[in-house]
Amino acid sequence: MLVGVPKEIKNNEYRVGLTPASVRELCHQGHQVLVESQAGAGIGFSDADYGAAGATLVSSAEEVFARAALIVKVKEPQVRERQLLTPEQTLFTYLHLAPDRPQTDDLLASGALCIAYETVTDPHGHLPLLAPMSEVAGRMAVQAGAYCLEKSMGGRGVLLGGVPGVSAARVTVIGGGVVGRSAATIAIGMGADVTVLDRDLEVLRHLDHVYGNRIKTLFSTRDALEQAVVQADLVVGAVLVPGASTPRLVTRDMLRAMADGSVLVDVAIDQGGCAETSRPTTHADPTYIEEGVVHYCVANMPGAVARTSAMALNNATLPFVLALANKGSLAALREDPYLRAGLNVGAGQVVHPGVADAHGYRP
Ligand code: NAD
Repeated sequence: MLVGVPKEIKNNEYRVGLTPASVRELCHQGHQVLVESQAGAGIGFSDADYGAAGATLVSSAEEVFARAALIVKVKEPQVRERQLLTPEQTLFTYLHLAPDRPQTDDLLASGALCIAYETVTDPHGHLPLLAPMSEVAGRMAVQAGAYCLEKSMGGRGVLLGGVPGVSAARVTVIGGGVVGRSAATIAIGMGADVTVLDRDLEVLRHLDHVYGNRIKTLFSTRDALEQAVVQADLVVGAVLVPGASTPRLVTRDMLRAMADGSVLVDVAIDQGGCAETSRPTTHADPTYIEEGVVHYCVANMPGAVARTSAMALNNATLPFVLALANKGSLAALREDPYLRAGLNVGAGQVVHPGVADAHGYRP
């Protein structure tokens, strides 16, 4: 199959749909890959790297879209890209269509098969193509939080791991899913005193099994939450209630009771945030202080480490890309119910029930 990789054009997006390593796998299995020149330049993948992996470099996105049967991207197609899609094409990328009616209408009009990373599932009902970005954000959360605890950032001047003779900082992670586990791993590694709260006992059992007495686990009641937040130097918000806005578990009163210069890294900000005081920030201006607490609420944390993020995303997407290329899109979708869960728009219809509901279409 002819697989195409355009350069991402969304503002500040440096990730790329296929890394040179993924291109090499596709070429090895007999496919041809068209890559737009400079597609990976922002994260250190040169045109020469792609050439060495077997790609054919082309000079424009127009040429990629005009020739490729399968387009592999990262972000949702921008207006200019949507106009280039054809009914013979399959698009595989993050789409996030539920809040985006204009994009949904354009994809419907294109006639293309549009498969969204974020709704592909696995046999456990998890979302395997979202998980890598949660792993990145969770790990980054502690790195960002440690930095925000420094005086120059408005923090209370506390070193996460302490030193011999001085206690380590207290880190409270709310939500023990993919983000929470990843945050806990790094916080433990840095020598912090770590508590994770969740309301799912299986999650707490798993954490206890993996980390033993290097971590405290707490069932997430209002009482437990209040105590763990108020005593923390760093709180990481990692809660998700699927299909709903994040519950505002951390109240203004709790934050007011924390020591001045404590830090909240609200990773769940992309779903609304888990504190009453949380509002989205950007990498250019990531923090603000409210109730004496430094808030870090960047909604696209993985963008800051775009090279790691692109490679992590490729590890998760490549098996699906190979299946689409090897079997053809229709057969791959027919044979794999988990990939099929990713089909959002196809043959002029909104197929995904969540997206159809959001816009009043009949699936
Ligand atoms: P997940 O489903 O793996 O984990 C969420 C956890 O929250 C679950 O274990 C669930 O039981 C727990 N939870 C639900 N209600 C709770 C409560 N009241 N108290 C304590 N725990 C509760 O989800 P995830 O992949 O870890 O993602 C977490 C959040 O991070 C999501 O909102 C996701 O969109 C967001 N995220 C943000 C970024 C970013 O750049 N800011 C990047 C990746 C993910």
